[in-house]
Amino acid sequence: MQKIANYINGALVEPVSKQYIDNYNPSTGSVYSLCPDSDERDVELAYQAAEAAFESWSNTPSEKRSRIMVHISELLERDIDKFAMAETIDQGKPLWLSKNGEMPRAISNIRFFGTAIEHFASEAHPMGNHAINYTLRTPIGVVGCISPWNLPLYLFTWKIAPAIAAGNCVVAKPSEITPYTAYLLSEICIEAGLPPGVLNIVHGLGPKVGSALTVHPKIKAISFTGGTKTGAEIARVAAPMFKKLSLELGGKNPNIIFADCDFDKMLNETVRSSFLNQGEICLCGSRIFVERSIYDKFKAEFVNKVKTELVVGNPLDAKTKTGAIVSKMHFDKVLNYIELAKLEGGVILCGGHAVKPEGECANGWYIAPTIIEGLSYDCRTNQEEIFGPLVTITPFDTEEEALMMANSTEYGLASTIWTENLTRAHKMAAEIKAGIVWVNCWLLRDLRTPFGGVKSSGVGREGGLEALRFFTEAKNVCVKL
Ligand code: NDP
Repeated sequence: MQKIANYINGALVEPVSKQYIDNYNPSTGSVYSLCPDSDERDVELAYQAAEAAFESWSNTPSEKRSRIMVHISELLERDIDKFAMAETIDQGKPLWLSKNGEMPRAISNIRFFGTAIEHFASEAHPMGNHAINYTLRTPIGVVGCISPWNLPLYLFTWKIAPAIAAGNCVVAKPSEITPYTAYLLSEICIEAGLPPGVLNIVHGLGPKVGSALTVHPKIKAISFTGGTKTGAEIARVAAPMFKKLSLELGGKNPNIIFADCDFDKMLNETVRSSFLNQGEICLCGSRIFVERSIYDKFKAEFVNKVKTELVVGNPLDAKTKTGAIVSKMHFDKVLNYIELAKLEGGVILCGGHAVKPEGECANGWYIAPTIIEGLSYDCRTNQEEIFGPLVTITPFDTEEEALMMANSTEYGLASTIWTENLTRAHKMAAEIKAGIVWVNCWLLRDLRTPFGGVKSSGVGREGGLEALRFFTEAKNVCVKL
C-alpha cells in the first residue's frame, strides 16, 4: 500500500509516530493509500526547519523566489494528468473537472503569486517638505496554512503560494481526508529546487496537527480554510496569542433569480452553481430564490435538466457529471439532511437518495443531485451549511423579500443575482451581506480580487494584494527632512 510522506526540511519523511491513517478512494469506498498520523513532534520538526530557512529565504531577492515558484508551476503543468488523476481518486470529483478546473487553477495560483511578488510595492506618504513616511513590508516569519478537502490542491496552493512568495516559511497541513496531491506537490518542490525548510507539509488529523500549529507559540500567523466551527476553535486559541488570522469559513449562499433574467443562461449556470463538484464548493448556491412569476417554469426546466444531464457515477468515466461524496462521514451527513428536510415539510423534486453504481464503484459514496421545495426560509435545512448535492428552491414576490431571505443566515460568503435590470443588480449587490456577489454569472474568478466572507463566513480577505498584505507586516518609517 502506497505510504504518503511528510515533507520536512526538503525531504520526504515518515511521521515520528510511524503510525498511518487509512486514506480512502471515495469512488470505490476502499482504502488505497496511507496518510501519516503526525502529531506535535512532526510540527515541531517542521517549525525548526522553517525557522532555520527563514533568514535566507526572506532575504532571497523576490526575482529569484519568483523564478523558483514559476518553475514549480511549470512542473505541475507538465504533470497535470498525474495530478488530475490523483485528485480524482482522492476526492471523488470527475476526472474532467480535476483536469480542466482544479489543476489549472492550482497552477495559476502558484504562477500568479510567484509573479505578483515582483510587482508588490509599498506606500510612501510625504508630508510636504517636512517629512516623509514610507511603509516597509516584511515577511512575518514562520506561518501556518490549514486547508480543507473539497478543492484540495486548489485551496492548498491558494494559501502557500502568497505565503512563500512574500518571503515567509510555511508549515502546512492539508486535509487528512485528501492528502495525496499535496504529497505529490512536495516531490515537485524538491525537483524545482525550493530550498529545504521553505515549505513543510505535515499530514495528519486536525485535532493533532492542525491544533499543534495553532497553539505553537512561534508560528505567527494562521491562514485557515474550512468549517465555521473549526475556524471558531482556531480563533479561540490563536487570538489571545495575537497571531495574525485569516479565516475562510462556511457558506449558505443565496442564488436570486428575477423574472427578467436571461433564462437559458441562468438555467445552465444554476445547474453548475448548484451541483458542480457534488455541491462541495464553498461558493455553490444552495438556496435558490425565484421570482414567483417564473417559479413554475424554472422548477420544471431545472428539475428536468438536473435529472437528464447530471449523470452520477464513476468519476473516471467521461460521461459522469456528479462524482462521489468525499467520505462516508460526509455521505451520511448529507443523507441525514435530506431526512431532516422531509421532516421539515420539504418536497423532494428529484434525487433525495444514495446511488449505487454497478461494478467497481458499487461500494462508493454517491448521492443523486437533490432539489427540494416547500421549505420555509428559516428552517434548519435552509439555515445550516450542508455542503453537498442538495439545493432548495423558494418563490419570492418582491426584491425586499428576496433580500430578507438571502440575508437571513449566519453566513455571508457568496451570492448570485440573475437580472437584466442594471439598477436592481447594483442595488441588490450593495445590500446583500456577502463578501462576493456574482451578477449574471457564477465562479468567474480574477485572482487579483479580494476573496472572503462576512458574518460567520470568515475574517480577512485572500486574493491578489490582500494575500500579500496578510503575509507581510507593515512598518511605517517617518523621516524628518
Ligand atoms: P474542517 O473545518 O473540518 O477542516 C478544515 C481543515 O482544518 C482540515 O485540514 C482539518 O483537518 C483541520 N482541522 C480540523 N480540526 C482542527 C483543529 N482543531 N485545529 C486546527 N485544524 C483543524 O473543514 P472541512 O475539511 O470539512 O471542509 C469543509 C468546510 O470548508 C465547509 O464548511 C466549507 O464551506 C469550508 N470551505 C470554505 C471555503 C472558503 O473559501 N470560505 C472554501 C472551501 C471550503 P482534518 O481533515 O484532519 O479534520
